Formats: sequence, C-alpha cells, structure tokens
Amino acid sequence: MPIAENFPEGLKPTGKISLSDGNYHIMWGPGKTANTDGSKPEALTDQDVVAAYKARGEEQVPLGVSGTMVAVDWDSCIADGACIEACPVQVFQWYRTEKDIPAKDVVGQTFDGTGSDVKDERKDSTDKADPIREHDCIWCMACVSVCPPQAIKVDQANVEAHQRAAETL
Ligand code: SF4
Repeated sequence: MPIAENFPEGLKPTGKISLSDGNYHIMWGPGKTANTDGSKPEALTDQDVVAAYKARGEEQVPLGVSGTMVAVDWDSCIADGACIEACPVQVFQWYRTEKDIPAKDVVGQTFDGTGSDVKDERKDSTDKADPIREHDCIWCMACVSVCPPQAIKVDQANVEAHQRAAETL
C-alpha cells in the first residue's frame, strides 16, 4: 500500500533524527500494523525483511514515517534502494551503514551523513532508506515513482507540518 495520501494527518512527531551539520528530520508515529485495506504492511510480509530480522534476533515492531517533506513509511520500506539510486542529490542514506542499531532506536540519534547512498550497499534487509538530507531535496519526484511499495511521499508544502512539529519537540 502506498504511504497515506493525507500524511501526516493522524500521526504525531515522535522525535528528531539529526544530522551533525545542525539539520534534522522528524519521525512520525505511531507505526502501523495494518494498511488501510486491512493487509499487513509490506515490511511485515516481505520474506527478505522478515528473514533479516530473524537472523539478527531483532523484534520487528511498527516504526512510523521518517521525514516530513520527504516522507518514507518505514513500515512499508522493504530496503529495495530504488529511491537511493534515483535521487540526484543524495537525500537518502542507508542508516545502518552509519549506525548499526535497530530502527526503533534511531529517534534522538545524530548522524554524520556518512552512511552509504549506494542502492546495493544496504547492511541487510532490516536497513531503511533514511532521508537524512531532507533539506537538500529539489522536489524532482524521482524517488516517489520508483519505490516498489510506494512508501515515499514528497510534498514541499509539508514544510509547514515540519515547522509546526519542530515547535513541539
Ligand atoms: S524528490 Fe528527488 S531530490 Fe527529493 S528525495 Fe526524491 S529523488 Fe531526491
């Protein structure tokens, strides 16, 4: 299922994921355990993702949406990497290639932006494409159309939601 058309309606900011240059993007939750049509989110059913969590001995929990103007639904993201390959300005990185921690623990973390932005360099299928340089987006929409589960929504107008959320954090 695509990320909700009305994102971020119904969600709340759960915290910041920071970049060491002073920029940050916002995580929204709660994560989802079911899509609007009742089906399970893609990350819960994708065999590679499920197997990767099992191999690590990590519990797979609802994660939410990373980013606001460039919003990636991490419960739908299956670590395909098409967005990472498509982006002309390297907005995304595989977060686990910089900090190999569970996705549920990224809120509050500061990254240097040194993670891989190469499609096939994900740590494993538990990794997520993180819009760590959201502020560099040039609104080309290339990432939106290539994402297999349509987990990405890019909307420059959501800068207002970002600013409102930032005031609460
Ligand atoms: S809209 Fe374009 S510039 Fe922005 S994150 Fe997607 S691919 Fe990158």
